Amino acid sequence: MTFLSHALVGASIGVALSNITGVDSNLTVPLNIGLSLLPDINLIWRKISDHHNDITHYPFLWVVLATIVWYLEPSPHIYSQSILISGLLHLILDTFGMTIGVHWLAPFHSKEFSFTQIHPQPENKSVKSKINQFHKSKHIYIELVTVLISTFVIWALF
Ligand SMILES: [Zn+2]
Repeated sequence: MTFLSHALVGASIGVALSNITGVDSNLTVPLNIGLSLLPDINLIWRKISDHHNDITHYPFLWVVLATIVWYLEPSPHIYSQSILISGLLHLILDTFGMTIGVHWLAPFHSKEFSFTQIHPQPENKSVKSKINQFHKSKHIYIELVTVLISTFVIWALF
């Protein structure tokens, strides 16, 4: 998935959480956009081809963080709900990975899961060859559907 689809999904979670909890969307929308993008912060220190093999892409991290924050914050627990939902939805979207899946059982098991066929890394590692592979595989449609659904949710609930 791209930064665009992760950000739009985060915005739609923010709008939905605001509607459900009554917390101001000026907090929930930017919070969930940021949290939806946060797992990919490891692109600063990891290559794109292996950035799912890192703690920021372990569901365990987001569950533990959300649990800790849940006990530290008052009701309606907007931060812990946001960490859990935005963190895990990032990983669900990444499980539609083009060349890499997600280690859902890490750090306890290293098995990599993917909803779609994992294609080999392109021999030419240029951005252009990555974009070409994105167009040739079905992932462009998964991206489009994600963008359309999240845009609709934002439009319908905002
Ligand atoms: Zn990611």
